[in-house]
Amino acid sequence: MDKKLRDTGIELIGEAFWGTHIGQLYESKDDFFSIACPYIRAGLLNNELCVWVYSYNTNEAEVKSYLDKYINNVDKYIKTGQLLLTSHTNWYLTDNSFNEMRVSGLWLEYVRKSTRLSYEGLRAVADTSWLEKCYYRTFAHYENNVNNMMHELPFIALCLYDENKTDKLQYAEVIKNHSYTIINNENKKELIKNIELIIKDKQLNKALEYNKIKTEFFTNFSHELRTPLNIILGTVQIMELTKQISYENEKYLKILKHNALRLVRLISNLIDLAKIDANFIEIHSKNIDIVSFVEAITSSVLDYAVRKNINIIFDTDIEEKIILCDPDYIERIMLNLLSNAIKFTPKGGKIIVSVHDMDEKINISVIDNGIGIPVDKQNIIFNRFEQVDKSLRREHEGSGIGLSLVKLLVEKLDGNIYVKSQPSKGSEFIVEFPCETIPETSEFNIENTLVSNSIERAKIEFSDIYC
Ligand code: ADP
Repeated sequence: MDKKLRDTGIELIGEAFWGTHIGQLYESKDDFFSIACPYIRAGLLNNELCVWVYSYNTNEAEVKSYLDKYINNVDKYIKTGQLLLTSHTNWYLTDNSFNEMRVSGLWLEYVRKSTRLSYEGLRAVADTSWLEKCYYRTFAHYENNVNNMMHELPFIALCLYDENKTDKLQYAEVIKNHSYTIINNENKKELIKNIELIIKDKQLNKALEYNKIKTEFFTNFSHELRTPLNIILGTVQIMELTKQISYENEKYLKILKHNALRLVRLISNLIDLAKIDANFIEIHSKNIDIVSFVEAITSSVLDYAVRKNINIIFDTDIEEKIILCDPDYIERIMLNLLSNAIKFTPKGGKIIVSVHDMDEKINISVIDNGIGIPVDKQNIIFNRFEQVDKSLRREHEGSGIGLSLVKLLVEKLDGNIYVKSQPSKGSEFIVEFPCETIPETSEFNIENTLVSNSIERAKIEFSDIYC
């Protein structure tokens, strides 16, 4: 199945693209359970995060007992967090009122959470029987906005409307804001298609398809570029091992190797940026002890710091903190920040890497006492191709891609990055990640977490610094 095309589990609809907003006008409880249960079942079986927001006409126990008829072991899905059953008061009416922005933000948060937890996306059932007349207008506006937002996201939703409480105007709004509306007509379920929205879904998915082709092109292209580079690097390695080269040629060999590694770094950064742009980057999150992991990454670059007589200190206010994240991304983020810190700190300088526990968040900071960054440049260094010194005679090599990629990767993990710096005094880069875990059977093991070719990766990341 095309990953963008989801099995809705609803016979009348079949498969639908991510971003599809479905409405159902129901007469009775059995009516909506007969649609919503197989719909959730399909989501759970296809590795989606599922949220069911129930309201007045049912309750958690009843939703669970209906789901039990369609899915084996519903409890298992609830326990692992893949299925969340929650009430309208928790979702829509916190603080006893309906705040359009807050609820849209909550959906967005769960879509992000779904990809962060390595699910394919978010599937929701949203019961609206709590809706009172005073909210009709705001709610129609909200539905319209959610609809526009959904088109861009791995998100599919089924909204339930009590037919007996829905007036003609509301009926029209439901049809306007949903790609498909399921209605009852003479005891039979029928589907009303909103052609305009369905065309929009298709157009967007065509654009996504185009992005996919673009990414595939970049990936193939990168492979073509990497293959000869690997051969060059392999040949260099053989020459190094045979040790049959003169002192003079050894110098040229080093230059050759160093520049080949720089090309490897540039190519993989460009590929990753293209993948993120096209929304094709995958997150493989697992529970890791972020403290020992960051410490291990810091240790892996000690050799590079020593060569510049820079002292690196690792500091933490907690012994262990297990959080859910993608270790591969964390390693790339840290190596980039560390290579910048070493690059922009003069000989004899000092770098402090520290991990701070903020309960719901974890802060990782990299402080150096290097050249610092002028205040007017502190915002733009996270932009693509931005460097403080762009002159061709600049002292430090680089392409200005590293930090923009770091920022995108941090955001993919639902984190934040910011910088504090004073010219000639030094810089501090702070990365903040949410602290969440998933129930897991296997124990955390740092050996399994460290990316196997991390020495090679450090070599590539530091290729701008040393020759
Ligand atoms: P580059 O490949 O040029 O290092 P980055 O995106 O990693 O690209 O960094 C962008 C710019 O931000 C750098 O060129 C440098 O001017 C500035 N910068 C990044 N880290 C530091 C630091 N620790 N100290 C001073 N300047 C820094």
